[in-house]
Amino acid sequence: MITIVGAGPAGSYLAYLLAKQGKEVIILEEHSQVGAPVQCTGIVTHSIEKFFRLKNEVIAKRLDKVVVVSKNNRITVNVDEIVMWRDKFDRFVAEMAQEAGAEISLNHKFIGFEGKNIIIIKDKKNNKTKKIKTDAVVGADGPYSAVANAASMNSHPKNYIGMQAKVRLAIDTTAFETHFGSDFPDFFGWCVPESDDIVRLGIGCFENAQEHFYRFLKSRTGKKDVLCWESGLIPLYSPKKIIQKGNVYLIGDAASQVKATTGGGIIPSLKAAHTLCDCINNNKDYNREFKKQSGKELLLHLRIRNILNKFSDNDYDKLLNLMSQEKVRKILKKYDRDTPIPLVANLLFKEPRFLLFSKMIFA
Ligand SMILES: Cc1cc2nc3c(=O)[nH]c(=O)nc-3n(C[C@H](O)[C@H](O)[C@H](O)COP(=O)(O)OP(=O)(O)OC[C@H]3O[C@@H](n4cnc5c(N)ncnc54)[C@H](O)[C@@H]3O)c2cc1C
Repeated sequence: MITIVGAGPAGSYLAYLLAKQGKEVIILEEHSQVGAPVQCTGIVTHSIEKFFRLKNEVIAKRLDKVVVVSKNNRITVNVDEIVMWRDKFDRFVAEMAQEAGAEISLNHKFIGFEGKNIIIIKDKKNNKTKKIKTDAVVGADGPYSAVANAASMNSHPKNYIGMQAKVRLAIDTTAFETHFGSDFPDFFGWCVPESDDIVRLGIGCFENAQEHFYRFLKSRTGKKDVLCWESGLIPLYSPKKIIQKGNVYLIGDAASQVKATTGGGIIPSLKAAHTLCDCINNNKDYNREFKKQSGKELLLHLRIRNILNKFSDNDYDKLLNLMSQEKVRKILKKYDRDTPIPLVANLLFKEPRFLLFSKMIFA
């Protein structure tokens, strides 16, 4: 039996793939329902449809533009993005897993290991601990991964604070906004419409999150009111992270499988689920296979993030000037951020002045 801890997208999609191949799979989820609480903007590129066809009820909006804002510049680029209801999305993937034969045990929290094949779990309904025997354990339990901690696989994690709230604001409902520059140190701010008058507004940063968030909120809405909070941690990808130790595996946020440019972790975790399913089925080394399948892409995102984090307001203004050219817009529309290698290669080929920013690798 394979025990997966966490019924987020990473855990449920892996459970679906494994169960489809006849494996006995159980998912332990500490909450009383799948998908709550929401701690995500739920925006993904249309690449998600390479994995499955989303049910209509999962989709809040389809957006065809992104407005990129720097201190003194603003451009609009055509894109193809989906804003999901994240709670419904999680339940949609969990149902796929159940239909394929996986069992989901709600209100069950992973506590720790006892030897190689026994795990200790807590039934939160009656507050009792019990032990279960398992052949393998997968930590799909998010950025605070208890599995990674218990298996000593959590060396020096670095996380962004993702502070996000739903707020009342009417913006163009076909576009989302991204904001860059010194008011958004080390990451960026976003404003994503979910309906005609409600947006998901957030920032990511390493420190002083409240200060940056409220400044952004005030600048966009003139007020400090929020409807509800959806904040959480966003892991920074670590190429050195150990993601397999014997029969213990990590996936998704627990494995820091997140694009460092955008904080997007949903599509990388779905991709990782295919790699991990293959490794479990065919007894392959997941540390090595993941690097082969996704390591280069996630490393490229990390390198771009390191460059962006050295940008001044002036550099962002210049970058937006380059991006506003028609030849660049065409490439940005054709290759999304889930295919970063052809995206960057084509950008550099069509507009070599992007290379000017690469000096910042050494700055
Ligand atoms: C503010 C914010 C905005 C974001 N926006 C986007 C976005 O727009 N697009 C995008 O692609 N990504 C986004 N992300 C990242 C995305 O949310 C994560 O990468 C994604 O949720 C990772 O999925 P996962 O299954 O690995 O982990 P999670 O979704 O965190 O799921 C982990 C599950 O494990 C359960 N769990 C935890 N501990 C235990 C335990 N001990 N026992 C049992 N169960 C346990 C949890 O209850 C949870 O259900 C955002 C993140 C934040 C914080």
